Amino acid sequence: MEFRDLKRQYLEYKEELDGGIHSVLNQANFISGNQVEELEVELAKYVGVKYCITCANGTDALQLALMAWGIGQNDAVFVPDFTFFSSGEVVPYVGATPIFVDVEKDTFNIDPIQLELQIKQILKEGRLIPRVVIVVDLFGQPADMYSIKNIADKYNMLILEDGAQGFGGRIGEKRACSFGDISTTSFFPAKPLGCYGDGGAVFTDHDEWAQLLYSYRIHGKGKSKYDNIRIGMNSRLDTIQAAILKVKLRHFNKELKKVNQIANQYTKALACEERIHTPFVRESFYSSWAQYTVRLQSQKIRNHLMVYLKEHDIPSMVYYAVPMHLQKAFEIYDQRRSSAFMVAEELCKTALSLPIGPFLENVEIEYVIKKIFDFMVYY
Ligand SMILES: *Cc1c(COP(=O)(O)O)cnc(C)c1O
Repeated sequence: MEFRDLKRQYLEYKEELDGGIHSVLNQANFISGNQVEELEVELAKYVGVKYCITCANGTDALQLALMAWGIGQNDAVFVPDFTFFSSGEVVPYVGATPIFVDVEKDTFNIDPIQLELQIKQILKEGRLIPRVVIVVDLFGQPADMYSIKNIADKYNMLILEDGAQGFGGRIGEKRACSFGDISTTSFFPAKPLGCYGDGGAVFTDHDEWAQLLYSYRIHGKGKSKYDNIRIGMNSRLDTIQAAILKVKLRHFNKELKKVNQIANQYTKALACEERIHTPFVRESFYSSWAQYTVRLQSQKIRNHLMVYLKEHDIPSMVYYAVPMHLQKAFEIYDQRRSSAFMVAEELCKTALSLPIGPFLENVEIEYVIKKIFDFMVYY
């Protein structure tokens, strides 16, 4: 069994995908081919924003957003303590200081109450200016965007939505990657919408920021690539990846529906076992299920379950083993001000992600559930 089965997906759409790839090969328009712009139009429409600017990966997308806003020295950027490293990595990259914020136990997403506490603390210290909150839609579920927006407005801060895992999710009818002043996603193969290499995108409604993003992603270009008016990056989505994404986008909503059915099936079955906490999705929220993540009662049970599943040929993953504030790379940032990373620390010890994906078969889902129950009986 695969943790996320990309081979079955390829075989399912093989003809369309091969066709898309071959047309790029035949046209030999490997960089900035027309498929890239076509995809950008389709993605912007899908998300419901004015601009989509594709780029080389989801990490660059976050960095480009911070560059467009001119975030740098003396700026505080708030980041959930429980996320993939990229969400925080981009902050020192532009010269700003990451301030980590604890998360909610049941949704895994940034805790608005903790966010406001951290903002107040930074204001009290008076060394840094609170400028941005990077809000991650972890494991596929949008964060509590409306509460966070109230806080951001109150302190005159910008929201950068990291939708690398959340693409395809919604609150009501409003789609992920439309909640940030700028939002980003990743097309890394295993993400909800993945390509066959690295890829990413930035979304915004804001005209001026969009123009800056177009410039920064191609060497800070002015009128042309050879007229360089600012220091930028080389961060493009290549045409083959765009052609692949155009095909996958056509099938995406169908896949989301399937993956939601699978998540419901897991939750319904596993809810009978009180020692397993199944993922909680807020009322009117819709997850893209980048991961299906349960919580166990202790690190010991979690680790034993993982080994047991592996012995039965079931892959599972620990997302994430180390909270951001304990990553060695962030050691130089003084995070002692907060005693409050209790939830993130606990999640690192007790969370376990199970196989999920639109091509997981019913017999496989039932096998995973059965093996979890077998383990629990003997444990
Ligand atoms: C994957 C991921 C990224 C980075 O995307 P890449 O395309 O791998 O650079 C950023 N944030 C989160 C939450 C992610 O899961």
